[in-house]
Formats: sequence, structure tokens, C-alpha cells
Amino acid sequence: MDATHTSGPPKESADSLVSVANNFAVAKPQEDKLAILRKYEKYIREDGQAVLHQIKSCKGEEVGCPFLIKAPRPVARSMAEKMEGLSFSQRLYDKIPGRILPHQTFKMAVAGCPNSCSMPQIKDFGVIAREKVTVTDAECILCRKCLKACREEAITLKPDTVAGPLPPKVIIHYERCVDCGQCARVCPTGSIKTESRGYTVVMGGKVGRHPRFATELVRFVQEPQVLKALGMASEKILGETGRNMYEVLVKESTLQKLRKEIQ
Ligand code: SF4
Ligand code: SF4
Ligand code: SF4
Repeated sequence: MDATHTSGPPKESADSLVSVANNFAVAKPQEDKLAILRKYEKYIREDGQAVLHQIKSCKGEEVGCPFLIKAPRPVARSMAEKMEGLSFSQRLYDKIPGRILPHQTFKMAVAGCPNSCSMPQIKDFGVIAREKVTVTDAECILCRKCLKACREEAITLKPDTVAGPLPPKVIIHYERCVDCGQCARVCPTGSIKTESRGYTVVMGGKVGRHPRFATELVRFVQEPQVLKALGMASEKILGETGRNMYEVLVKESTLQKLRKEIQ
């Protein structure tokens, strides 16, 4: 045996490691850019076209979820149509020079209530249904059902348990309220009632080496504003160059511009 031979894999130089990394990310001319995505069904349609955006909805409608505020599927369908209308997949495909990797696709989620089962907070673009509640002049009978319903302890009844000569005052502490609407649903007198239903849009969430929760873009908007925000966010992404194109979604300048245009 050669005296210089050692067992185990050959040691790699720093240069060869860089070369391996580059080969993984950059396709050679004529090479299939979808070679990696083809390993996953969700990225390739039946006609062989790539789908470089995914939308996850919670199952609120299907399971008859008691927390459901707004059905997520209709808005998710509209979002998918919007992405098709923008030719997002084709444009992203053209833009990425090498083999396309799963983390380079655009991830979205829609949740039917703030419980957020579809995890919009860790997606590039997230939509969360919310229900704003308000206190009315209707009599509060101190049944305390709202207190039991509110997991955030965001309601105070004054006087608390004392049925004094003055009518009890219901206070909602909005700084703790997550807009789930549960208190309004259980209140038998209408002392707490729903004021409006809408969506919060969040952007820029991600997992991976540097995880980050999404930043709130707008609160209590309706579907047309959601779609407008999605269109503008998509154009921002497609206008970026370099590896971290989704970072544009959390730039202060992007957030300010979108807020101004959407509201
Ligand atoms: S996000 Fe809300 S509505 Fe949707 S399944 Fe979860 S709890 Fe139900
Ligand atoms: S809407 Fe706000 S106050 Fe009412 S139950 Fe939900 S978190 Fe509590
Ligand atoms: S559920 Fe309505 S009536 Fe009952 S304590 Fe709460 S606010 Fe008052």
C-alpha cells in the first residue's frame, strides 16, 4: 500500500467547498432549473409548469371551527388568481439564474382567525382574519361569560362582582385584545358587540438560519386591499436583485409605501 494513503473521504480544500456550493445553486447552461423542485409535487403542475408560489389556508371551514371569523379559502383563491394574473411564477423563473431552490419560492398563508393555524407569521405574506369588538349602551347583566371567553384577560367589569346601584361598566383593554371576537359571540345582551371584521396583512416572516416573525403591514382591511398589497409586494420582490429578494418586504421604505397606497 502506498505509504501516503489514508482511509476515509479525501479532505476538501476551501476552494473545492466553494465550488460544491456554487454547483448546487447555479445551473450550467441548458441544465434543468427545476431539477430540485421536481422532487416535490407542490412545485410542479400537471402540465409540467412550475408553481413558484404556495398558499396555505387553515381548515376553519372544513372542520366547522368555532373560532372562524372569515372563511380563508375564498381569499386564498383570489390570491392565487392574482399571482397567476401577474405571471409571478414565470417571472420569478426567468429572474433566478440557477437551479431554483424551495426557499426561493414565495410563501403565503391565510388564517381564519388570530389563532393562525396556517402560520402566516412565518410566511413571506400572511393574512389573518380579525374581529373588532366594542362596548355598547346595552345593559350588562354581569353574567361573566365574556370573562370566561377572553383568554387574554382583556375585559374588566366594574363594579366587578358587586351589583351596586350603578349599572356595571364594561371595559375592553385593547392593548391586550387580539381581535378574536369571542366575547361578542357569548354576550347575551349585546353589551359587547362586533364592530367590524377584516384582515391583518403581515409580511416578511421566515424560518431557517435566521428566523423572523412577519411585520404587520395593515390591520382591518378587506379583500381588495389584501389583493392590492399582494400585487405590490410581488412587484417589489420581482424588482429585486441578488439572493435575498424577500428582504425587501421588511424594509421600512417598502412598508411605508405600501401602507400609503393601500389605506
Ligand atoms: S386559524 Fe382559527 S379559524 Fe382557522 S382552523 Fe385555526 S382556530 Fe380555526
Ligand atoms: S375580542 Fe379581545 S376582548 Fe374579546 S375575547 Fe377576543 S381578545 Fe378578549
Ligand atoms: S357577557 Fe355581556 S352581559 Fe355578560 S358580563 Fe360580559 S358584557 Fe356583561
